[in-house]
Amino acid sequence: MFVTKGPFIRRTLNSYFTTPNSRMKKIMRANFIDRNWRLHNVQRLHHNEAVCCFVPDYVFEQVIRDGSREERDKAIHILKLSERLRSQRHFVSATDPKRFGIGGHTERRRVVYDMHNIGDDNLLPGDPVRYEDSTDTGDSNIDKCFNHTGSVYDFYNQIFSRNSMDGEGMAMYSSVHFDEDLDNAFWNGRQMTYGNGGGGFIKPGTLTDLIVVAHELTHGVTQYESNLAYSGQPGGLNESMSDVFAIMCDQWVNKQTVNDSHWLIGKDIMVRGGALRSMKSPGGAHPGDRQVSHVRDYREGMGPHQCSGIPNKAFYTACMKVGGNSYETIGKIWYIALKDRLSRLSQFQDAANHTYTIAAELFGEDSNEQKAVASGWSEVGVEARKPTVEEIIVERKKLLSKIDSRLGR
Ligand SMILES: [Zn+2]
Repeated sequence: MFVTKGPFIRRTLNSYFTTPNSRMKKIMRANFIDRNWRLHNVQRLHHNEAVCCFVPDYVFEQVIRDGSREERDKAIHILKLSERLRSQRHFVSATDPKRFGIGGHTERRRVVYDMHNIGDDNLLPGDPVRYEDSTDTGDSNIDKCFNHTGSVYDFYNQIFSRNSMDGEGMAMYSSVHFDEDLDNAFWNGRQMTYGNGGGGFIKPGTLTDLIVVAHELTHGVTQYESNLAYSGQPGGLNESMSDVFAIMCDQWVNKQTVNDSHWLIGKDIMVRGGALRSMKSPGGAHPGDRQVSHVRDYREGMGPHQCSGIPNKAFYTACMKVGGNSYETIGKIWYIALKDRLSRLSQFQDAANHTYTIAAELFGEDSNEQKAVASGWSEVGVEARKPTVEEIIVERKKLLSKIDSRLGR
């Protein structure tokens, strides 16, 4: 039951055996058991990676091991909360997504709710405070969230002709001011939820930045399209898709070419400096960054936020080979892959083969774009190839069954 390594535990054990007072010993032993029980349970719960949050668990797990008592308590609180929201998303993803879609609209529809710093997920979404056509509230978190949600809708709509996350005009619900100083943002299968930051790891007010909003909303798009599982390589692809479309949205809004972009996810949001993830150099965004950037470093059981560095680097490399605007070339290829080719259990090799094939369909055999896709995947150790006839038949069957389920047949 006990975790028997780490500086905190060594420190605690040393103090325990060198403290003469027996009452003090009892108190310290009780604290030791309590903290390690909590750490053990948080770790156990998090092996079941069913859902996404913006800041990866390993950032907080490291704080539990190395941080001060106050930092540890906050980190444990965040992990417990994200686990609860995860189970909700698992439930929602497993049920008919149309239940929550309320689609059929052709205009964008946003609603932002205020949770008034209450951290009870049973009370989501909270009080509605901002709708379409309403004016600024004066609360920067609420207004930022509302405006950035609009930018993400416009990006998908204008670049990919997509009408909201389900493609059918579903309303976009967001809750802000969730909990006092929560350092995370979540997609729970039906809505976005944003903490205030300021808990010690994330700067206050930065969780409603454009790239965070775009990342979270893309989890919604993925859920309604390929519905990639949130574990193993499909989980890495799921996380990567959110980063890929978030960085493209950031480039589109800021009118940046691939050479102008910083290719960072969560730039300037971390209290300790650096960014949360780097698509150009996975693993090098901040000192505790554990992302990998090559399939030789992939291991079974690796978290989606860790192995997403592999497809992220493939996408970055392909974009840099082509130049110009990512969302006009390689981004279109990735969008078709997400929408029509990938499925729940797709692996990195499947993503490489599909994007390679789509590149030829859109831009021609041996086009610069197709060569760029091949070298992007090759850079991370995946050799893209055209699928065999058998693989095409299997994929077509999957696509037909997806269309049937969308049509309710
Ligand atoms: Zn995510």
